[in-house]
Amino acid sequence: MEYEVVIGMEMHVELDTASKMFCACPADFFGAPPNTRTCPTCLGMPGALPVINARAVEHAMLLGLALNCKINTHTFWERKSYWYPDLPKGYQITQYQYPMCYDGYLDLDVRDLSAGWSDASYAKRVRIRRAHLEEDTGKLTHANGASFVDYNRSGVPLLEIVTEPDIFSAHEAYAYLSAIQDIVRYLGIASGDMEKGALRCEPNMSLRPKGSAAFGTKVEIKNLNSLRAVRDSVAYEIRRQTEVLNAGGTVRQVTMGWDDARGVTFVQRDKEDAHDYRYFPEPDLPALDVDDAWLAQVAARLRELPLAKQRRYQSDYGLSAYDASVLTMDRGIAEYFERAVAGGTAARAKTVSNWITTDLFRLMKGGATIGEVKVRPEQLGALVGLIESGAVNTTTARMVLEEMYASGADAAAIVSARGLGQINDLGALRAIVEEVVVGSPSQVAQYLAGQEKVLGYLVGQAMKATKGKGNAQVMGGLIREALEARRT
Ligand code: ADP
Ligand code: MG
Ligand code: ZN
Repeated sequence: MEYEVVIGMEMHVELDTASKMFCACPADFFGAPPNTRTCPTCLGMPGALPVINARAVEHAMLLGLALNCKINTHTFWERKSYWYPDLPKGYQITQYQYPMCYDGYLDLDVRDLSAGWSDASYAKRVRIRRAHLEEDTGKLTHANGASFVDYNRSGVPLLEIVTEPDIFSAHEAYAYLSAIQDIVRYLGIASGDMEKGALRCEPNMSLRPKGSAAFGTKVEIKNLNSLRAVRDSVAYEIRRQTEVLNAGGTVRQVTMGWDDARGVTFVQRDKEDAHDYRYFPEPDLPALDVDDAWLAQVAARLRELPLAKQRRYQSDYGLSAYDASVLTMDRGIAEYFERAVAGGTAARAKTVSNWITTDLFRLMKGGATIGEVKVRPEQLGALVGLIESGAVNTTTARMVLEEMYASGADAAAIVSARGLGQINDLGALRAIVEEVVVGSPSQVAQYLAGQEKVLGYLVGQAMKATKGKGNAQVMGGLIREALEARRT
């Protein structure tokens, strides 16, 4: 029997705020010594009162708007009760009945990237069921036969995003996750760093006979913290569940962990020991009401999202899907590109795109981010302008960019200081060409015998004679003229 996988994704995004969700402790705890970012509130001391972090609420609404969600302008907080050492209060404050955001969707371009880049893609819409605010738990570490707890993370604002079961392959799951990661970074509301645990995801997945509309029994894979772990664990579960079903068995509804080292899932919890969370309204916090002015203020922070940008770069500038995707992956790079193009033509945009994705990226290989690059986008635009006007050729421009990258100087200044201007003067070029042709009798003979490819050699010689500054295209034409003139 052939099966189809059905996936609904739950994702936890740690929001970038100065302080925690309900207290004044710094939310940026990464690398801090254990238990140094805590106070009575996030340690769950009796009597310590929580206060709502407005910034976290704004971030949540902004993401909701980006995901085409409706916003609950009236919500309240609820206690989700369970006891575990990483949850010092014995309950988590969350939004249950009225999530901050609900009923949205995210459009994706899905590609099979398993063997590198692929131009082929298809459009896909994943419905978002809800996105609600809550607080993160502390962190347990088990080592040397002991357990350690660190409450620095306890109370960090967390947004949980839940999709409908609309994802039908590992590629779609990957496209969904990386889109969310790009979007939270674009909006500046979260780092989205999976390796730091700032973005974690839990696929719920089941198999059903291909073509069937009913859902099979799902398993949930907990707390994956890399895109690769998502891809591998989903693939593993597809294989495992297929074997179970083909052997006539049934899939048990369980919560699973992923053993990254061994590449297998393992059962963490059975349905029988499912928690009874006993949600009830949080008595220590007021209801949360969002008025129109506040919502409008948040909506004003929405910006063009990566996929829309990609599609626009392709349609307006004729960029390839690959280039459009590379340029939009990072908001800083997209903004750099747009400022370098600055209302220029499609041809200008294509040239700028090439310079960024090849030469600039090569120079940045040392690990620089686009914000650290000394060449301002306007300066790169000006360099491309010099190429377009014929003031420098491409070879020279490459050298000039290297110098710009090192010093931050303007292209024109470097060109004039070092005398790098392209030689376009016809008389001068013709003289050089004549010299080269006269000095290469055997190549001339070959050309006249029909071997066109020696043209390239002769252009190379002429370029050398101009120390790389000659206009190669013009010299090519002049060389052909000079050779043709030698036919008898
Ligand atoms: P639970 O109550 O176990 O948390 P929910 O109905 O709340 O289950 O759904 C949690 C997630 O699981 C959602 O993302 C949902 O889309 C997904 N989901 C629900 N049923 C299935 C299924 N049969 N197969 C795959 N995913 C599912
Ligand atoms: Mg669940
Ligand atoms: Zn605190």
